Order: sequence, then structure tokens, then C-alpha cells
Amino acid sequence: MRIVVIIQARLGSTRLPEKVLLDLKGKPVIQRVYERACKIKKADEIIIATTLAKTDDRLVEFCKNNGMTVCRGSENDVLDRYYRAAKHFQADAVIRITGDCPLLDPCEVDKVVEMFLSNNFDYVSNTQPPMLPDGLDASIGSFQAYEKSWKEASLRSEREHVTQYMRNHPELFKTGSVGYNEDHNGKRWTIDEPNDYTFISEIYSRLKGKKVFGNFTEVLSILDENPELSAINASFERDEGLKKSLIEESAICINTNFRGSGKLLEKTKLLMPAAASTYSKSYRYFCEGAAPAFLDRGKGSHVWDIDGNEYIDYVLALGPVIVGYGDDRINQAIADQMQKGISFSLTTVLETALAQKLVDIIPCAQMVKFVKNGSDATTAAIRLARAFTRREKILCCGYHGWQDWYVGTTQNDLGVPQSVKELSFSFPYNDLDVFETLLKKNHGEVAAVIMEPLSLELPNAGYLAAVKDITNRHGALLIFDEVVTGFRLGLGGAQKYFGISPDLAAFGKAMGNGMPISALVGRRDVLELIEQGAFVSTTFGGETLSIAAALKTIEILENENPFEVFTARGECLMNGMKTIVKALEMNDRIEFVGMPYHFALKFKGSDKLSHFDLLSVFQQEAIHWGVLMLGVHNFCLAHTSQDITDTLEAYEKAFLSVKEAIDNDSLEHVLKGGRFSPIFKRDRSR
Ligand code: PMP
Repeated sequence: MRIVVIIQARLGSTRLPEKVLLDLKGKPVIQRVYERACKIKKADEIIIATTLAKTDDRLVEFCKNNGMTVCRGSENDVLDRYYRAAKHFQADAVIRITGDCPLLDPCEVDKVVEMFLSNNFDYVSNTQPPMLPDGLDASIGSFQAYEKSWKEASLRSEREHVTQYMRNHPELFKTGSVGYNEDHNGKRWTIDEPNDYTFISEIYSRLKGKKVFGNFTEVLSILDENPELSAINASFERDEGLKKSLIEESAICINTNFRGSGKLLEKTKLLMPAAASTYSKSYRYFCEGAAPAFLDRGKGSHVWDIDGNEYIDYVLALGPVIVGYGDDRINQAIADQMQKGISFSLTTVLETALAQKLVDIIPCAQMVKFVKNGSDATTAAIRLARAFTRREKILCCGYHGWQDWYVGTTQNDLGVPQSVKELSFSFPYNDLDVFETLLKKNHGEVAAVIMEPLSLELPNAGYLAAVKDITNRHGALLIFDEVVTGFRLGLGGAQKYFGISPDLAAFGKAMGNGMPISALVGRRDVLELIEQGAFVSTTFGGETLSIAAALKTIEILENENPFEVFTARGECLMNGMKTIVKALEMNDRIEFVGMPYHFALKFKGSDKLSHFDLLSVFQQEAIHWGVLMLGVHNFCLAHTSQDITDTLEAYEKAFLSVKEAIDNDSLEHVLKGGRFSPIFKRDRSR
């Protein structure tokens, strides 16, 4: 049996910061604890397990420089930190020691180990009931007991206090306790407060030579000789941290049951291609079996799947949810309008009001046409540009929807007539040479240049202005596809943010906080062609519930400045993620792309593992710990700073699993569900 001692330690303690690096007679506390742990007879290996927080970089460095094995894991989920360390160091049993107990008595630990080995115990400690001084606590648990706790424990106290789940469930674990014939429970030999450190320093200064490793009865004799010492830190209670966390008890999100999704998915696969109406909402974009395939409801920034699992959501319906799910103000606006009717036989005042609003907030907007999907708006723009210029060719950059003129430029072009394909060309972002060459090659034939003004790659200085200039010089119209940037990069979209006004623009997604509405906006002389034979018309373009929702959404956004809110949240999340990645030494394998308000993770694969393999692992773990994500992070006004904190706690573990896959160069034992398998191939388009 391989027995590994895991000593938990961190520098970020609030009551006494950096306590484990405080000096005790020439050596820091952690080294004293480590050296004492080395005296435990049956210990095969001693590990210091610290956190991924930046504050622990110094501890890691100290341990490495002083020959101590150190590993890093979750800050608050200490059970996860122990479990991963135990797994990594191939422990059959784990002795748990805390790094703030430099009077640890290896002989007392030996007794615990002996009992554990004597009769097939799962868990043995010397604290049930506590008879030894606080600071001599030791326990040993089997790897299986750790694994079971790791899988099942959901209370925060159980995750923070590591073996609490084993102690709380004697029906699941064979537990034992080593007693002691005298009660020293009231003595406090651990370091939590400044006075504790003074006390331990006093003891250490009296321990001489070899006795630095003496057993605890020698410390008792020092106290007998110097009774005033015990008063230094007598006023503190034992297990204060545990008591505090029991008071604040809440459950941690662990999502493991996707049975309802699994069953319904089988049926839906037979009824709907890819079991979805939208490609990216298909089960193929989530780890089948280890992820939900169906959502049931949402409120604020959280969603629930049909099995009752809860998630903080960063997909937000692929962008539309910008205020939050089920926003009461927007719901009320929809409900009020519903009383009056949904669709009518003439234009309504709501359409005029929303058209006026868009003209007010979007720089290029002189007139407006309402439609339903982003594809409708981009396609209307293309029709008008062709009508206006009397030309047919299109240059595009980005994603623009499902119509022939665009998908003909991609690998997903089955069913698109060759004659249509020959009219559209894609060009790469940020490359003016290729762009201009394309225009020159098709001189006098290009009707429109349509592009996402910003996706994940940032525009080079002057790029968008140059595109506009070159486009107009060639007599073509510039169309900004603002279906994603619209309202997320501020109410005026990317055109306002970058100060470049196109001839036409398409807005969609976030306009109505999830209601189906999109709009083509732009120059009056171009939109007027809709009355002169350039046909753009849909039955539901003026549907009033969506327009009422859009008016209310814009009103809320005008008061709350979405771009600034999303940037602040995004920076907090992205910086937290970068800290984790750095602590795990994975900088060369993970890249962050995009601006903080809308950023994605890019994994650098290997010969055996692709970006999608590693994304699958990351996403699977994020989902397990309560975060729904697809790669790109979208934000809504309802995301709170607590959401970001909780997300980072989940992501610590997701990154740790990615690291495990990278270290093993394999998905085996890490990926439990299916792989992320995109339907849409993007290689020919950007
Ligand atoms: N343009 C962009 C930039 C998009 O992201 C999308 C949708 N993902 C569209 C157009 C098409 O919008 P829809 O799916 O609403 O038709």
C-alpha cells in the first residue's frame, strides 16, 4: 500500500496572511511541518498541496527551492485539491495534515496509520472525539474513500474540510478513531491568529536540538514548567473555521444526472436533424452523456436543464439574452402588448417607435426594415446592394447566416447552385492586400462587401476605415453585419465604437433579449429601393411582442451601459482564468482571444489531442461544476460578481482536468462524455 502524506497550505489566510512562511527558529512553519511529517513511519511520499491563486506562487517557489514536492489545486474546494493530488501521486491511502500545525507529532500519526492498516478501515482519525491538543490532528483515508467523497460531497463544508463527508457518513465508510487517555482538547497548538504564532514561537525557542522533533509530551513538560505560555492564545475556539462554514452552509453545484436529456435526445434525433433547430444548440456541441441536451428554464444569468441541473450560462442562447433570462420588466412589456394583440393587418405605432429609436442610436441608420433572423437582415442588405449598384458579386468576411449567397462560400455548400457560388467570395480579416486584390480582380462587378466589423480578432489600426474607403472607391456598398456586435459593443454597435459608418447594417440577436427580431438599417437612398422593386417583405416583420420587448430592452440598456458592465465582468473572469492557467504552467497551450466583453478560449492541441478534444474536457468539467459554456463567453446584465467567483471555482477544476489530459496526452479517464463535434465547418471562411 502506497501511503502519501498531503499537507494543505496556502498563503492567503485572512486571519494571519502568509502564516506558513513565518519563521520558527530559523525555518518557516511549512518546512517544520514537512520535516516532522517526514518522520511518519509508513509515509511513502510527502506532498504540499497549495492553491492556484497568485498569492501562492511564493509558496510554490519556496517548496521547490527547498526540495519539497508541491502541487496546486482548487482554492476553496480543498477536497478536490486532495483528490487530484492523491490521484496524481498514485496514493492508495492519504494522510491529511494541515500546514499550520508545526507541533505535529509523527508518533501520534503513526498510531492512526497503524489502526487504519489493522482492520481494513476506510478512514481513521484521532479527532473523534478530540483528546489531543488542537494542532495534532491527523487522519488517513483510503483512495477509494477520497474518490467517493469527491464524487458525492456537495456541501461547501464537506468540500472545504476534506474528510467531513467521510465523518458525516459512517454508514458509507468504515471509520475508526484513535483515542488518548488524557483530555488535552482545550490546548491550542495550531497557527490561525497572531497570538498562536507567538505561542508556538515560544515553544520552539524552548525545544532544544534534537527535541525540535520531540513528541508532544515534551511540549506538555514545557507548558508545565512555563504555565504562563498557555494563556497567550487560550481565548480561541477549536475548529472555528469549520463552525463558521457550517453556519454559511450551502450546496455546491455538481451536475451528474443527464438521464432525462439522454432519453429525450434519442427520440429527438429521429425527429429533427442534429436534434436541434439551430446547429450550435445541437447535442453535438456538448459532451453527449456528460452534458444536458435540453434546457427547461432560465432566470437572470442561470438556466436549468430538464433534469433539474442548474448552470451559470455564458452561451445566453448564442447571444440574444443581453439583459437576462425572464427579466420582469421585459416580461411585463410583452404581457401588456399581448393583451392588445400580437400581429396586425396594418403597421403599428410600436414599429414607428422602434424605427425612430434605431435611427437615433445607430450611426448609419436613416431608415429601418424589421425582419426576424440575422440571416433575413443580411440577405435583405445583399438584395438592396445588388439593386442599388446593379452588380452581382459579393465579398464577405465572417459568418452571415444560412442563405445561398453566404454558405456557398463555405464547405457547408451542399444544395447551393454553382451559379450562385460563383458570385460570392470570402476574404480574410485584417488583410487589406488580399481584400484589395479581390476587388481589383472583380473590378466593376462587386455589389457589396459584407463583414463582421469585429469578431474575436481585433482590427489593426486603420483597418476598418481602409476597408470602407477601398469599398466605396470600387463603387460597392459596405455592409456591417452587426448581428453579434449589435448592442453588445454598445447600443450603436461596432460602427459607433470604431467610428466607421457603413452604408447598410444588419442587427439581430440581442435586439429583443431573446425575442425573434432583427433589422436592416442604413442609407435612405438604398432602403427606399424596397418600394421600387427590390423585394423585402415578411409576414411577421412587424410582430408586436418582439418589438415591445426590443423597445424595453433598449430602454434598459440605455440606462445600464452594457459594454462597460460586460467589459468589467469579462476582465474579471478572463484575468482569473489567466491566473489559473499560469499557475498550472499551461500558458503555451491555452490562448485567450477577443475582447473581454466577448472572449473565447483556444486550446493548442498536440499530435494526439486537438483543440476540440481539450475544449470537450473543459466544457464537460465546467458543466459538471455548474457552468454552461461553448467556447465564447457572452455576458448579460444579470451576471453578478458572485457568478464570476463561482465560475472561476468551477474553471479551476476544468483547467486541472485539461492539464491531466495534456499531461497524459490522452482523453482516457478524463473525458466521460462524447466529444465536441461541430457540424459547421469553417475552414474556408474565417
Ligand atoms: N451574422 C452573424 C454575425 C451571426 O453570428 C449570425 C448568427 N449566428 C447571423 C448573421 C445569422 O443570424 P440568424 O441565425 O439569426 O439567421
